[in-house]
Amino acid sequence: STFVGASFGGIAELYAQIQKAVGATERVFELLEETPEKINSNQSITTEKINGNVTFKNVSFSYPSRKEIQVLKDVSFTANFGQKIAIVGPSGAGKSTISSLLLRFYDIEGGQILIDNKNIYDFDLENLRGNMSIVPQDVILFGGSIRENIAYGKPNATEEEIFKAAKQANALDFVNGFPEKFDTLVGERGIKLSGGQRQRIAIARALLKNPSILILDEATSSLDSESEKLVQEALETLMEGRTSIIIAHRLSTIRNADVILVLNEGRISEQGTHKELLAIENGVYKNLSNLQFSNS
Ligand code: ATP
Repeated sequence: STFVGASFGGIAELYAQIQKAVGATERVFELLEETPEKINSNQSITTEKINGNVTFKNVSFSYPSRKEIQVLKDVSFTANFGQKIAIVGPSGAGKSTISSLLLRFYDIEGGQILIDNKNIYDFDLENLRGNMSIVPQDVILFGGSIRENIAYGKPNATEEEIFKAAKQANALDFVNGFPEKFDTLVGERGIKLSGGQRQRIAIARALLKNPSILILDEATSSLDSESEKLVQEALETLMEGRTSIIIAHRLSTIRNADVILVLNEGRISEQGTHKELLAIENGVYKNLSNLQFSNS
């Protein structure tokens, strides 16, 4: 079940405007065109394969266009290699902003972001992003074939690798169902894929890229249950062996996360495992969970 829904009462209210988050995805696409102000320093790290340890140390941030509003305040957390970090919180709390900073779309104001204990700004930008994948909640494919859309994650991928990625992403069956198979055109002028199918293409793309750090913006709108199951399964495969930062809406994801960050108005109000957060008397997370359980 999802973390959002009419049956969840207070949670539904808290996450009321989550649908607006579709905009967050579009923002990410817009942002891909943006270059951060800081240029690469002389010691730009290019050669090292990133392990995927991520640390935010007292990070503060405001958007250049709205300097007066501090969007992140003193945000600190650590995601060790292979861990799943779930970020939860109401709309506008700053969840997507954390992922944008990780992708280095913007420069931070205060504090530090460390990747494998090195300052994120010491990495060559291309090298850094080459080690990261993002699976947005509403995947937009570009005009072209399914093959091209998957191979975008690794332009020199072999046919076999593309096939394998599609299989692992639970996309092979539906792709093979089209007469043109991997040559099927998608995007505005091509065939219309369902939300779940598009997500599985994005998952195949990420599998092929094989990043150390995965940023996952979970879908809030429910897919039909069969598609849902296939997407969930594919995501599990994708998250294996990497550090995953998940903007989480699904209770199962949140429960299984190694660390849950409860973000509120740009501040982390609580962090810990599901169990740890439930142990906080009068905690935000505990209250959310109580609502969830009393309503289900
Ligand atoms: P949602 O769940 O609705 O996606 P969120 O928790 O991801 O919300 P953010 O998208 O990180 O929240 O936004 C945090 C704050 O920063 C909001 O007040 C938002 O209006 C503002 N904001 C987001 N993107 C920009 C931008 N590009 N320029 C200026 N302000 C922005």
